[in-house]
Amino acid sequence: MKLNNYINGSWQEGGGADYTAVVNPANGETLCEVKLSGKSDVDEAVKAAKRAQKEWALVPAPKRADYLYEIGRLMKERKEHLAQVLTKEMGKVIEEGRGEVQEGIDMAFYMAGEGRRLFGETVPSELQDKFAMSVRAPIGVVGLITPWNFPVAIATWKSFPAIVAGNTFIWKPATETPMMAYEMAKIFDEVGLPPGVANVVFGSGGEVGTAMIEHPDIRVISFTGSTETGRRVAELGGRHLKKVSLEMGGKNAVIVMDDADLDLAVEGILWSAFGTAGQRCTACSRVIVHRDVKKELEQRLLEQMKGLTIGDGLDESVRVGPVVNAPALEKIHSYVEIGKQEGAKLLAGGRILEDDGLKGGYYYEPTLFTDVKWDSRIAQEEIFGPVISLIEVGSLDEAIEVNNSVTYGLSSSIFTRDVNQAFRAQRDLDTGIVYVNAGTTGAEIHLPFGGTKGTGNGHRDSGVAALDVFTEWKSIYVDYSGKLQRAQIDTE
Ligand code: NAP
Repeated sequence: MKLNNYINGSWQEGGGADYTAVVNPANGETLCEVKLSGKSDVDEAVKAAKRAQKEWALVPAPKRADYLYEIGRLMKERKEHLAQVLTKEMGKVIEEGRGEVQEGIDMAFYMAGEGRRLFGETVPSELQDKFAMSVRAPIGVVGLITPWNFPVAIATWKSFPAIVAGNTFIWKPATETPMMAYEMAKIFDEVGLPPGVANVVFGSGGEVGTAMIEHPDIRVISFTGSTETGRRVAELGGRHLKKVSLEMGGKNAVIVMDDADLDLAVEGILWSAFGTAGQRCTACSRVIVHRDVKKELEQRLLEQMKGLTIGDGLDESVRVGPVVNAPALEKIHSYVEIGKQEGAKLLAGGRILEDDGLKGGYYYEPTLFTDVKWDSRIAQEEIFGPVISLIEVGSLDEAIEVNNSVTYGLSSSIFTRDVNQAFRAQRDLDTGIVYVNAGTTGAEIHLPFGGTKGTGNGHRDSGVAALDVFTEWKSIYVDYSGKLQRAQIDTE
């Protein structure tokens, strides 16, 4: 099968010269091929999106929302199929695949509700017989650039608020995961979105991504991916005076205090660290543990890690699937070597798995380091694989300091039974998301999603906050006094 771009409501072959194969990371099987696109495809998509946007912005928002209800309904109807495609394409286990599709469905219905809200404000004017209000205005054509680790949820966090607010979009999915984008394009087509409102262009970040950022008619770039790429996107976007929303890497920690429910903490750590084989942006890769419970926690983690079944995520009994590709596998392994050189103690894992039944796939053994120094590379840099580093501390203050010592700021968590400690932690942990007595993953779509420092640039995906990325505030004054009234001057 060959996947084509979806531009102006029709399927079009990309104009680039190369095809790329989409490979199932569980077994190396080629799933389909994609023709990579070039600048001319982006130009064509933007032309269509610009043409469509004027009309689309005039469609009443509740009517725009009706398309989202229909998209949500179709996603729900196809949930199992979409989850299977997702698992085949990027490897996360099927239960998580279903969860991710559900996130997209939730986002569709939630944002459809915004079609009847999109609240602005009415406020009293300082002058008599004058009315003042603010409304959200659509921005125009927006560009969406998404990563492979959440190939559908992140796209829904961006595209659904964009269209309900009256924008049209060009979506460039990650080269690793075009199949989910293709499935979504089929749904956009089937619900009858007017041609040009939703456009999907396949291709590399360097070519298609750059063409989008440089295009004068794309006003917003909403990007999710690594901090390294995000920095490039911001630099180029800045030069072109784009509004750029960035959601980037993480180095998330679970804090386990001496009064924690250790069984619960272990469950939370394993789910956050090894779900999606450690490739969630919110994955737990550091455990900051109070010295009085460190030994006990190590033992319980080791015990539970023995029960993690590794394999093809389509097998319902598997808990840890493959990582996305060979370079990811090598990167993870190289960090394990760095950890050993840095003097961390390897308690479990640390191997590329090539046993029977795993051959052809990209599997890494769930790995546990202890006695990790808070400022070592494995405790500071994003590994993006199933590797946990245990760091010992002696107090809550020290735990918070260690948590905040990284350049990222996405998610953090604390396990404690002490309400005072819990409240101090949620105040002082400098991440965009904080969990108390839960792991570092599990965001719900009606809250803002994003992070501080090297994780973000102040914008948020999902929740009502996502609308701020895709709208401009317009302030409107209506003077019905019949005379010139000057603000700040005629107020005496
Ligand atoms: P990535 O390599 O940065 O790629 C992300 C997207 O950017 C892909 O579509 C990629 O295209 C594109 N891209 C690459 N170079 C580009 C350029 N020069 N200009 C414009 N676009 C470019 O990240 P990834 O490996 O896909 O995803 C993993 C990273 O995403 C991790 O760091 C993870 O923490 C982060 N992430 C963050 C969040 C969050 O909300 N904070 C959520 C999920 C993931 P190609 O596919 O063609 O390279």
